[in-house]
Amino acid sequence: MHQPSTTPRPSIYYHYKVNEPWLPKAHTLQPRHKVVVTGAGPAGLVTALELARYGVPSVVLSAELQVSQGSRAIVFTRRSMEILQQVGVANRVTASGLPWRFGNSFYRGQQVFRMEAPHSPHDRFFPMINLQQQYLEEYLIDACEANPLIDLRWGNKATAVQQMDGFVELEVDTPEGPYALTSDWLVAADGGRSGLRSALGLQMEGASYEGFFVIADIKIDLPLPTERLAYFDPDWNPGNTILMHREPHGIWRVDYQLPPGETPEQALQPESMKQRINAQLAMIGHEGKPWEMDWCSVYSARTLTLPDYVQGNVIFAGDAAHLLPIFGVRGANTAFQDAQSLGWHLAFVVQNWAGPQLLANHSAERVGAAREIIEEAGKSTRFMTPPTRGFRLLRDAVLSLSLTQTFVRPLYHWRTSRPHEYTHSMLNSAGDDNPLFSAGPAKGAPPVNVRLGPDDYLLDHLGGGLNLLYFTQTGGLPPEIVREVNKVRERGVPLRVIAVGSNAPVAGADTTLPDPQGACRERYGIAASGAAYLLRPDQHICARWLTLDPTRLQSALCAALPQ
Ligand SMILES: Cc1cc2nc3c(=O)[nH]c(=O)nc-3n(C[C@H](O)[C@H](O)[C@H](O)COP(=O)(O)OP(=O)(O)OC[C@H]3O[C@@H](n4cnc5c(N)ncnc54)[C@H](O)[C@@H]3O)c2cc1C
Repeated sequence: MHQPSTTPRPSIYYHYKVNEPWLPKAHTLQPRHKVVVTGAGPAGLVTALELARYGVPSVVLSAELQVSQGSRAIVFTRRSMEILQQVGVANRVTASGLPWRFGNSFYRGQQVFRMEAPHSPHDRFFPMINLQQQYLEEYLIDACEANPLIDLRWGNKATAVQQMDGFVELEVDTPEGPYALTSDWLVAADGGRSGLRSALGLQMEGASYEGFFVIADIKIDLPLPTERLAYFDPDWNPGNTILMHREPHGIWRVDYQLPPGETPEQALQPESMKQRINAQLAMIGHEGKPWEMDWCSVYSARTLTLPDYVQGNVIFAGDAAHLLPIFGVRGANTAFQDAQSLGWHLAFVVQNWAGPQLLANHSAERVGAAREIIEEAGKSTRFMTPPTRGFRLLRDAVLSLSLTQTFVRPLYHWRTSRPHEYTHSMLNSAGDDNPLFSAGPAKGAPPVNVRLGPDDYLLDHLGGGLNLLYFTQTGGLPPEIVREVNKVRERGVPLRVIAVGSNAPVAGADTTLPDPQGACRERYGIAASGAAYLLRPDQHICARWLTLDPTRLQSALCAALPQ
């Protein structure tokens, strides 16, 4: 019998709530579900919220009775915030997180690089915001519990899975004993050690790097701004790297690399940690400052992915699908993008708005994203933890040259998590005007935001399905365009038309957004009225036209909704 811990996890700053388990005895009828999500981490929770946006109910299983232990992922990107805005929790993250956009790299006590993440007045969210993962999970759980389409079951652990003919059978253990669940689809979002991945005998592809890092969260009062700090080859830890991040509630993350040969057990000895953290504080000029340990852990860098996230009726997401190095804040930020993608692709199949090949597209796009991240993060990982003597020589040359030569300093800049562009997606329209645009987000790219008023942005108005942005300064939507839109809507497909650029409501559009300063026109590369962008439910562009016509709109909608 599964007995999850009922003792609140220890923390200096976070109050863990222990939830009541969901017990099968109290619920006799177990119909076949549309979707069961295993795992209530960032990937599982956002998938359930996304599915609910398209009217698809789900059961979410959480093996534990409380949110995850320790801060874990602490840096969330602008794109993650845009995804969280869609599922209704971005405001809470903004209210409690610490936004930032600068990073500093030091070598032998000298600052050798200052990274500045781009930030425009048109962006609602900062490039990065720091918040401990427990809070983020709490906000997502509150949103799930408030949603009548989501049945969140605490203390329910999936223990066995079987693929049947077109559905899945799952065995679930609870503090009161096991029960069986059947579902058309199973989302496996059960984390890096995914039991479902093992149960189905699936192997990940890629590499694991030698070298361990300690993560220590300490409570300390440091008079430093919220900026990323990276120290290469410091005297107290020669050849290795230390990262520091400020977190809310007076917590600082100190993340340091271990010398080769030291085991995680040795590294986590309190005396060893105390000595190293004190050495780091002394190096940055805060020797003897009192601090208290909140949480610590050890990790190593891995760049692994399943080659296909759709396995029969089981779909993998987040850490269960791939394991990515945390340099560049990849873990949870990638999980959000997986979940956003999976939510709409799966919902459109469940609702019969598109055929099952849509799920093959989801897998191809997200495996492509993971491989791109692995390629990029592999470079950062090799810089931080050189795997061979050759890599170390090269890295050390960059470090020492950077003291005097400015041209090598940008090599310190490891790229942070960013949305993958679905340039070669099968959902992209072949006959649009993409190559003729000289500005604006290209086909496959995520949208760019535009500030429309003091607290009003273009992306605030998108959501809940496909969006057609129709640029017009005068006049309504041509009737033939309205006819094409209505044909799709009659099948139940959510498709909204947003007219951009007119001061008066545009006939045929669901919403009209004036564009008095022309910022939308400029940022979307629009020269004349009649141009349009078609956005998928995850807001990525799948077609754009200098002049929209009904035939090309129809073909773009067919491509985006394969039958
Ligand atoms: C110790 C540690 C430190 C980390 N530090 C960082 C960091 O500094 N920066 C960063 O970006 N990322 C970090 N990560 C990674 C980040 O936390 C993950 O990438 C992110 O949580 C992925 O979300 P997920 O939903 O895929 O998986 P998880 O968050 O792991 O969620 C999995 C969920 O599945 C549940 N579950 C597991 N098995 C079952 C089962 N059989 N039945 C039911 N439920 C089950 C778990 O209880 C959990 O709720 C860290 C991870 C760990 C473990």
